[in-house]
Amino acid sequence: MNWKTILVPHDFSASASHATEIARDEAKQRGSRVILLHVIELPHQLDAAALVSDGEGHMIPLQSYATARATQHLQELADALAADGTAATAVVVIGSPVDEIERVVAENAVDVIVMGTHGRTGIRKLIAGSVTERVVRTASVPVLTIRHPGE
Ligand code: ATP
Ligand code: MN
Repeated sequence: MNWKTILVPHDFSASASHATEIARDEAKQRGSRVILLHVIELPHQLDAAALVSDGEGHMIPLQSYATARATQHLQELADALAADGTAATAVVVIGSPVDEIERVVAENAVDVIVMGTHGRTGIRKLIAGSVTERVVRTASVPVLTIRHPGE
C-alpha cells in the first residue's frame, strides 16, 4: 500500500490525539504527509447569521468564530507534527463529518484514513462511534481505526 497522504479526522478527543500519534509514527517511517481535518458540526436549527461575542467587544458570525477557534487549535497540532519532521496541513470545514471526510479524501488523493474508534461524545460500550462506523462502511480508501489504550 502507498501511504503518500494520510488523512487524520480529528475531533479534539483523546482518541483522535492517540490516532494522530500512530499516524505520525507511520508517516515518519513511510515519508507520508498528513492532513488533519476537523469538521465543525453546527446544529441545523441555528441561524447561519447568528452572532457571538469574540470576547474582545465585537460581535462576529458564529461560523467565523467557530472556524477561527478550531483552525487555531488544529494548526497547533499540525505545527507539532511539522516540528517533528512530518509535513502536515490543517483543514477545518463546517458540515457533516462523514461527508466532509470523503470529500477531502477525493480532493486530496488521500491513500489511507487513520482515526480513533471513539471520539468526544460516544457511549463507551459501542464498538466504535457513529462517525468511525460510517466511514469504515463507506470510505473509498482503507481505514485504520485506533482504540485508545484507556478505552
Ligand atoms: P458519537 O459521535 O457517535 O456519539 P464518538 O464521539 O465516541 O461517538 P465518533 O464521533 O465516531 O465517536 O469519533 C470517532 C473518531 O471519528 C474520532 O476519534 C475522530 O477521529 C473522528 N471524528 C469524529 N467527529 C469528528 C469531527 N467532527 N471532525 C473530524 N473527525 C471527527
Ligand atoms: Mn462524535
